[in-house]
Amino acid sequence: MVIRVSEIPEEGIQIEGVSAFPEPFQDRSWRLEDLELAVSKEGDTVFVDGRLEARMPQVCSRCLEPYEARVEADVHTRFVPSPGRGEERELGVDDLESDVYDHDQIDLDALLETEAALGLPMKPLCREDCKGLCPSCGVNRNAVACACAPVTSDPRWAALKTLADRLHR
Ligand SMILES: [Zn+2]
Ligand SMILES: [Zn+2]
Repeated sequence: MVIRVSEIPEEGIQIEGVSAFPEPFQDRSWRLEDLELAVSKEGDTVFVDGRLEARMPQVCSRCLEPYEARVEADVHTRFVPSPGRGEERELGVDDLESDVYDHDQIDLDALLETEAALGLPMKPLCREDCKGLCPSCGVNRNAVACACAPVTSDPRWAALKTLADRLHR
């Protein structure tokens, strides 16, 4: 959904639900589930505030199984007109949280995509208590209980220690 800044009414625009955004994400496997947005204008500065809920396929960082991450993200972005070519605008402190628009247009799809991507976990987990893969035999311990002894020390150090023992023999 692209909005024209000059067409934003005095009272702003309220968007509830996802029907105005049939395909907001370039990655078709991402799904926008819920949305509340308020678009308002002050002079030529546009404020977009609200929240979104999306579901995006991820791979668990512990057990390496694919799962669907549910992302809730707050949207608080300020758009200012991009300075014309060759024109230098003085950067204020506030500009760090600002975005720019060109040709009287703001692409809300692109905004939602950015905010959803920022909401993705750095270390995705299929569930809080994911047991991960067994470091000895490699089975997914969420699904299979293997008989391996629990590893007490870091296996990488154990390997180094074995090597060191061999070198000193
Ligand atoms: Zn997992
Ligand atoms: Zn095992």
